[in-house]
Amino acid sequence: MAKIQIPRGTQDIMPGTVELWHYIEAKARDLCRRFNYHEIRTPLFESTELFQRGVGETTDIVEKEMYNVSNPRSEDALTLRPEGTAGVVRSYVENKLYGSPNQPVKMYYLGPMFRHERPQAGRYRQFVQFGAEAIGSSDPAIDAEVIALAMRLYQELGLTGLSVELNSVGTLEDRANHRKHLLEHLNGVRDQLCPDCQSRIDRNPLRVLDCKNETCKTLTKDAPSILEYLSDESAAHFEAVKAYLTELGIAYTVNPRMVRGLDYYTQTAFEIKMAEIGAVETLCGGGRYNGLVAELGGDDMPGIGFALSIERLLLALEKQGVQLPVSVGIDCFVAIQTPDAKSAAFRLVDRLRSAGVAAELDYLDRKMKAQLKQADRLAARFTVIIGESELASGTAVLKEMATGEQQEIKLDELPAVIASRLG
Ligand code: ATP
Ligand code: MG
Repeated sequence: MAKIQIPRGTQDIMPGTVELWHYIEAKARDLCRRFNYHEIRTPLFESTELFQRGVGETTDIVEKEMYNVSNPRSEDALTLRPEGTAGVVRSYVENKLYGSPNQPVKMYYLGPMFRHERPQAGRYRQFVQFGAEAIGSSDPAIDAEVIALAMRLYQELGLTGLSVELNSVGTLEDRANHRKHLLEHLNGVRDQLCPDCQSRIDRNPLRVLDCKNETCKTLTKDAPSILEYLSDESAAHFEAVKAYLTELGIAYTVNPRMVRGLDYYTQTAFEIKMAEIGAVETLCGGGRYNGLVAELGGDDMPGIGFALSIERLLLALEKQGVQLPVSVGIDCFVAIQTPDAKSAAFRLVDRLRSAGVAAELDYLDRKMKAQLKQADRLAARFTVIIGESELASGTAVLKEMATGEQQEIKLDELPAVIASRLG
């Protein structure tokens, strides 16, 4: 039979690597606890319309990247979630969280997203995003808090040299004012722009500024900046966000061309980047979405959030040579010198496990020497050896692998002794 292969752009996260994921996930969850963000788990698929409305018809995600799923017995148009914010806001509206006494509502998610993209390093078709959303406050301090949460994760994991790029894309009105002037400029160079940008001019001209094509970048170098068209309110908000970031000691650079891929952003937009990560340098993206809750049928509530992927975070850790302090070894291997000791060993392992000790024994009838080799391979901190005479006296030899120190101990007492020596 022919082998069946893993789908393109996906990966198996194997034992030995998954421990890194656990470590990062635990760190993310602990940061959210400290920042008072609470987990929300929404479905992996939602109605297609949610993303059309919530992400925006003119985005890459909706135009090219969605996985639409269907079942012949159902007429529902469903899509595997390509991002987290739309589902969170859908749920916020559906569960009437705007009525919650705790405002703003601060939530986070951690789970897989699906996008049909060209796979490459740090770019997958299924990837895991960690994201946070704060809905219900326009306070610029919360913009800074959200950026700080993402930055803290990277810092506490040991990444250095990250930079925050910051912009304000204004309100819808600000953008309408800017748009007129931007269109004048873009129409002047229309013929020389890439085909994608030519169509963006009519649908979402701001996104031409975000094109990665070098010719487009040069042609739009002197295009009018959105920052010149901010209303007093948007400008004041932007200044306040910058001031709060400075108070937290978070360095940033203003990039007036950074507009982010999603349609629903208002005012603050930001990305966290790492120099030299290769083709993909953006680790995290986020921003304010003051129009989104209303767009999805709720009250007019402001919101802000970020999303980052664990895959790109791992890539960054690898590039910077950061080793996470994950332990892979077990605590104790129980070896037997005679088959008669098997049931005593089996019982002991069970009692060790009950006492919180990660314990293992041989299941392949290995000889003593091979059992000790297995203990080594499992990086056991302790080995317990039960021989014939020990079995008779109800004891075993406890060996600490690092020091070679040995001690005969009663079988009954072993779980407590090992648990306490593990601290
Ligand atoms: P890009 O410009 O790299 O395509 P994006 O604007 O589509 O990014 P967002 O939708 O803002 O990305 O997602 C936030 C973060 O999620 C990105 O900064 C990146 O770290 C990560 N990310 C996005 N797409 C992928 C993917 N296909 N595989 C892995 N990580 C991804
Ligand atoms: Mg993308």
